[in-house]
Amino acid sequence: MEIAIIAHDGKKAEMVQFLNEHKSILHQKNITLISTGTTGEKVKKAGFQVLKMLSGPLGGDAQIAARVAEGKCNMVIFFRDPLEKHPHEPDVLMLMRLCDLHEVPLATNASSAALFMKAI
Ligand code: PGA
Repeated sequence: MEIAIIAHDGKKAEMVQFLNEHKSILHQKNITLISTGTTGEKVKKAGFQVLKMLSGPLGGDAQIAARVAEGKCNMVIFFRDPLEKHPHEPDVLMLMRLCDLHEVPLATNASSAALFMKAI
């Protein structure tokens, strides 16, 4: 199962906390983590193996969206920061649209993400 973890800058600390709280689930052998570039660095530092895409503003969200469309990515956890503007908002909207289109579970905040962890 491939799970994408993405966090806007204002939410990266929250994302690391989430990873630490769900270590045992996310370390299961059948789970592969993928991330946008800067998020991926933090995921790695938190002790996880992760496949890193480009940084979000450089196309990383679009790369993850393509994996959703291709049926490779099975879940997206996106710690979005609703209080900031982002130059790559069109890519983020594309990712969310493709999750809806392909019925891929998408969590956009920590409490939804925690519920997802209970389901896997
Ligand atoms: P980043 O991108 O992990 O490279 O910071 C995340 C995003 O803002 O989409």
